[in-house]
Amino acid sequence: MSLIKKDFIFNDIKKLKGIGQQLSKYLKKRKIEKIKDILLNLPYSETDRSEVFNINKIEIGKVQTVKVLVKKLVFPRLRNLPNKIICQDETGEIDIVYFNSREGYLRKLFPVNKWVIISGKISFFKNKFQITNPDYATSLENQDYVTQNIKKYKLTKGINEKKYRSISEQVIKDLPEIDDWLDKNFIQKNHLLGWNDCINRLHKTSDGKDHNSNSFRRLVFDEICANFLTLSKNRKRIRIKKTKKYFEKKLSNEILNKLPFKLTSSQKKVLEEINNDLRNDKRMFRIIQGDVGSGKTIVSLLSAANVIENKYQCAFMGPTEILATQHYNLAKKIFNSKLKIEFLSGKTEGKKRKEIIDNLNNGKIDILFGTHALFQKKINFKKLGYVIIDEQHKFGVKQRSDLAKKGGSNCDVLLMSATPIPRTMMMSLYGDMDISKITEKPKNRKKIITLSKPEKKINELWPYIKKQINLKNQIFWVCPLIEESNFLDYSSAKKKFDLINKKFPKHVGLIHGGLDKSKKDAVLKNFLSKKISVLVSTTVIEVGIDFPNANLIIIENANKFGLAQLHQLRGRVGRGDKQGVCILLFKDGLSKNAVKRIKILKDSDDGFFIAEEDLKLRGFGDLTGFQQSGIKNFRFANPIYHNDLFELAEKYFYEIQHNINDEKYNFLLKFFDKAEIININND
Ligand code: ADP
Ligand code: MG
Repeated sequence: MSLIKKDFIFNDIKKLKGIGQQLSKYLKKRKIEKIKDILLNLPYSETDRSEVFNINKIEIGKVQTVKVLVKKLVFPRLRNLPNKIICQDETGEIDIVYFNSREGYLRKLFPVNKWVIISGKISFFKNKFQITNPDYATSLENQDYVTQNIKKYKLTKGINEKKYRSISEQVIKDLPEIDDWLDKNFIQKNHLLGWNDCINRLHKTSDGKDHNSNSFRRLVFDEICANFLTLSKNRKRIRIKKTKKYFEKKLSNEILNKLPFKLTSSQKKVLEEINNDLRNDKRMFRIIQGDVGSGKTIVSLLSAANVIENKYQCAFMGPTEILATQHYNLAKKIFNSKLKIEFLSGKTEGKKRKEIIDNLNNGKIDILFGTHALFQKKINFKKLGYVIIDEQHKFGVKQRSDLAKKGGSNCDVLLMSATPIPRTMMMSLYGDMDISKITEKPKNRKKIITLSKPEKKINELWPYIKKQINLKNQIFWVCPLIEESNFLDYSSAKKKFDLINKKFPKHVGLIHGGLDKSKKDAVLKNFLSKKISVLVSTTVIEVGIDFPNANLIIIENANKFGLAQLHQLRGRVGRGDKQGVCILLFKDGLSKNAVKRIKILKDSDDGFFIAEEDLKLRGFGDLTGFQQSGIKNFRFANPIYHNDLFELAEKYFYEIQHNINDEKYNFLLKFFDKAEIININND
């Protein structure tokens, strides 16, 4: 019985009376496809006309309803002067004012000496209350039609608001009592609400726009649990039995001995964790978390060497062409022609592409670097044993799940990320993975000096920059936009390039996402080989690129970026042994908040600390990296308001972890559209 009831809400909306082809098409645009989506489309505001006020109690600026007696109608018959209906109740007078209204119509609507109900925005003009062009004016018999609390829903064009409201109301009214997946005691103990209660209140009261109401919190709790559940199931699917890998670390030790530095103890520890996983009989699904510059790449390449020693192939994917190329070049250097190494991106074409595909198939290629292109259908490895993905925050849970399928059961998976994640979010984002942390930076790293300057004073910078160029130091110059925009008052890379190029001809290069690979590569090569000193760019340089000779970064419109992103950007400099400097340029005077934020950046070089602080100051939505990191999975939960619920859900999950396949949880997964991610219907 309960199953049938629950299934009701998972039906297509077309099953509802009043929803035909056309309307369902429009609703689909708002992602309303199943009946449950109507439940999840909460009213974002309401107009409460339900209370009828006396004139001496009305408030200017509010939409309110009054019951008044019509005294006199005034029709000035002059252009631009409105028609006026003078009304009163026992407590005062009010004018109802109409622009562009026919006399006959108004006389019918407002019979003199009759009581009427009027609802609209209250204003005050020439010492008198007035309502201009009221939303409703009607006789007392029709009062009920006006005096309601009307909910407003976010809809798209083509959907009639009244119609949608009536459908939504009907669904809520017909909603069967659904067996709650949470038990009563738990609900009571944690001040949540029962499921049906919760849905009802969200639509019938103003709870839907109050993230702290008990009903909203119940919804949030469910959403977080659905997320945790998805990750747990994903983990179960991925951590399956595999053939253990055997190696004696011959190749990796050889590489290690030739490195110009020693691994930090943190790097050693993480490498051991990975090696243990590779030798284990369960597939590895691990993420290395480490701040920018903590040396994740070398750790991953050393572990790759072990896998290759065991005669498996490796795929190494970067988020951008530039970054993947850099990893490829590094690998060529450290593997020193002992291995067959190739690079593949969407732009690799023709003969080269065919050759790579063949050599992957026959096992000649040991390790393949590249972008997303590595995971195209046509790319097949003979014996893929290891997938490494850098800067994984560009991938959500869905992609991770797809990826694991591609690899096959003997394929271990390693992700790397410099995105600092606040503690609350760890489980939500990485609940399906094992986590390794690189907690220290190489000893030779100097803290980057961070300064701020108003853009007006940019001229003071030129002598300093000239000096840097003469010293053969290199400079990043970051702008938010590629080209000038009519809409945004931000600096563009192209324009800035023109300006700097005039000042220091032949010393400046320009790079941005709009350039094709060969152009990008040419510019980067020039920068790496120090032919140019200044690289003007957009944030394409944000992730991972390693330029040991760059020691100055200038970031324009710095308040446009989140702290975490600024921290990532400045991590581009000071990677060699020179002192790194970061100059943040701001358009105008800084707000108090902005000053605080800069102070945090100046004082700390701990990306994780910075992220926590940024979270407190700017709110969650602004943190770069998070948005892409799968956090979009949350429609209702917000770590700023619902920290305690994240903790509660974590505890709850710890207790139920052995029962996650219970049918009752499928309801949750379906309700929040997680089912398809983990294919609960196909398993
Ligand atoms: P990230 O963790 O940001 O990806 P990288 O792996 O790019 O950092 O490393 C940054 C730089 O630090 C590289 O030039 C790398 O060669 C160097 N590096 C890595 N490990 C060490 C170490 N233990 N000591 C000194 N330099 C190191
Ligand atoms: Mg990196």
